Order: sequence, then structure tokens, then C-alpha cells
Amino acid sequence: MDSKSIDIPEILFSYNTGAPFTQCLECDKDLTEPTVDYFVEKVFRNYQDHKAQDVIIDYAICVTCAQKFYQKISQESMQNIQQYLGKAMEKNMRRAMAQNEELFERCVVHDTAISESEEYQIFGHCRGTKLLLNTPPYAIGWKAINEISTKLSQSTKDEMDGFFNKHFTPDPDLFAHPTKPKLVLI
Ligand SMILES: [Zn+2]
Repeated sequence: MDSKSIDIPEILFSYNTGAPFTQCLECDKDLTEPTVDYFVEKVFRNYQDHKAQDVIIDYAICVTCAQKFYQKISQESMQNIQQYLGKAMEKNMRRAMAQNEELFERCVVHDTAISESEEYQIFGHCRGTKLLLNTPPYAIGWKAINEISTKLSQSTKDEMDGFFNKHFTPDPDLFAHPTKPKLVLI
């Protein structure tokens, strides 16, 4: 397959290992195979006053498992997400590429500096040790995450919560924060 790609940037590495992810969260598939496609998602929290940030969640999921998950999400939620993201994403990605911006610098929906968002997520489509650019990598800020969350059906939220609870036991301190992390898989 002819895909434009770059080496996976460090920001998409596993927080635990400091290296690219090697296993699918769901099925344990070996992701180091150069032919295996997978998605990496990471959730960060910024602390404006301390100029620090935490990685709250990070994982890689193979394309097969991701598709299985998407099938469980209601059609209506899927359409709402796509409608919400579609236009803004396209426009902002085109602009970011034209200006040769650093990846993950601005919210793909609102085009605001991601460093000013109290929480944000980043997403990349990888294959082996490469980040594919044909599926544009992006960052999405807290405001947009919340807006998406209001567009999801209860059953979709339950699926997402189920996925979250199955795989993650985050630091309880993070959950004590008034804005509980919200997982929006996109
Ligand atoms: Zn998998």
C-alpha cells in the first residue's frame, strides 16, 4: 500500500515504555509487525498554573478491534459525530497542512491552541513504527470533547464507559479532579 508516513513521533509513544506501542489493548496482537494497522489514542490533562501535564490514558488498538467496537456504537451517534467533526476537521486539517504546522498543536474542531485546553486527546493511525498521514493525525480539545459527548446516545456512552472500565484503572487522584476524564473514542 502506498501511504505517506513518518516515524511515529514521541508524543504517540506509550507513556509506560517510552517507545511505540507493541500490543493491541483488546486482543494483544503484536503491533510491531510492519503490516499491522492500529490506532493510538492518548488523553492529556494540562495544569495551567503549574505548566505541567499528565497523561491520563494511552493505548493502541488494532484496526480489527476498533472496527468491532465501532459496530457496537449506535448509527445515530456515529452520524452525529461525523456531522459534528466533518467540516471543521477538513478545513482545519487543510490549513494545518498548508502551514506545515506541528502535529497536535491545535484543536482540530475549534482551531484553538491545545496547550490552553485543560484536557485534550490526540489520535494517530499507525502501521509498525510509522504514523500514517493519509488518515490525518489530530488533537481535539476539551470543549469539543464535551460537545461530542452531548451528541452521543446513552447506549453509545455505555459502550464507551464499558470499554474504559474494562481496560483502565486510572490514578484515583485524577478522578478526584472536578472534571472527570471523559473518554470519547473517535
Ligand atoms: Zn486487536
